[in-house]
Amino acid sequence: MSQRDYYEVLGVQRNASEADLKKAYRRLAMKYHPDRNPDDEEAEHKFKEAKEAYEVLSDAQKRAAYDQFGHAGVQGGMGGGGGAGFSDIFGDVFGDIFGGGRGRGGGGPRVQRGADLRYTLDMTLEDAVAGKEVEIKVPTMVNCQTCDGSGAKPGTKPKTCTTCGGVGQVRMQQGFFSIQQTCPACHGAGVVIEEPCPDCHGAGKVRETRTLSVKVPPGVDTGDRIRLAGEGEAGEHGGPPGDLYVQIRVKDHPIFTRDGANIYCEVPISVVTAALGGEMEVPTLGGRVKLRIPKETQTGKLFRLGGKGVKPVRGGAQGDLLCRVIVETPVNLTDEQTDLLRQLGESMSEKHSPQHTSWLDGVKSFFDKMKF
Ligand SMILES: [Zn+2]
Ligand SMILES: [Zn+2]
Repeated sequence: MSQRDYYEVLGVQRNASEADLKKAYRRLAMKYHPDRNPDDEEAEHKFKEAKEAYEVLSDAQKRAAYDQFGHAGVQGGMGGGGGAGFSDIFGDVFGDIFGGGRGRGGGGPRVQRGADLRYTLDMTLEDAVAGKEVEIKVPTMVNCQTCDGSGAKPGTKPKTCTTCGGVGQVRMQQGFFSIQQTCPACHGAGVVIEEPCPDCHGAGKVRETRTLSVKVPPGVDTGDRIRLAGEGEAGEHGGPPGDLYVQIRVKDHPIFTRDGANIYCEVPISVVTAALGGEMEVPTLGGRVKLRIPKETQTGKLFRLGGKGVKPVRGGAQGDLLCRVIVETPVNLTDEQTDLLRQLGESMSEKHSPQHTSWLDGVKSFFDKMKF
């Protein structure tokens, strides 16, 4: 195919400035963009043609060669699909035109949201289950009073950054595209502090402890988080503050352990209560309740007290309290008690020990297999 004149392709005069070329190319690139002209071979051709013309004419050296020798002067380096890929070029051009993903087109330093903060709140199991309003002290960054947040020593002022002219962003020329970046001299602030404030060392902010009230809902557990919107660190350059996340950590309880909605506890009972039955007072999170122990209760038996557990914070049924009884071996026996126990022992046979026979059978078959 015969090649059209590059100036003709872009529709500009032979003495067009760099800005004119860029403007003309952007107009054509948008007009013939394949997304806007799906399955249109002519548009695609025009798009590539404009790209090639611009690549040559925007390069002073190549433009001079083209002006002198025509297409022959710039062959080799160019050609069909040489250089950067189609979509790469496209992304850069359109990022530039629309400002998408390349920062803001306007001036002023970069506005940044403040950092989120995390606070670990230690609670007792009782408070976590019942819910509680708690006051917490949160260290956070606030505007420095000495310099009124400017970061400059009182009596001095931050100077406008000379690198970016106070904009906070600089345009970098990358090939023939211009890309916006955060100013490396002032890190986007737009100002440079020559004499820093002695209290905040130029940061404009100091650490302070704030007291906040947190409403902890009933039923929370370790790992649950409560979000306090806007209570995080202050934003940069007028940006909104971050959030504060209060992370719940429930302390170990001397009696109860929690598993989801259920609460577990161990209840020691005497041999006599275990054998004859009786009534025990057991603790629950809501006070004491009576637990009836039936006769012939074995150690390890679990008694369920329905609805005495936790109502989970995310909804669902209230859990149970599960009491595991532990039969205690009597200690510190008097001579008389020892005698009574011995008499009791002599009067007992295998039928009084329900697990003993099957246990002995198990031991016997174990040794038989081992052939001792
Ligand atoms: Zn700057
Ligand atoms: Zn200060």
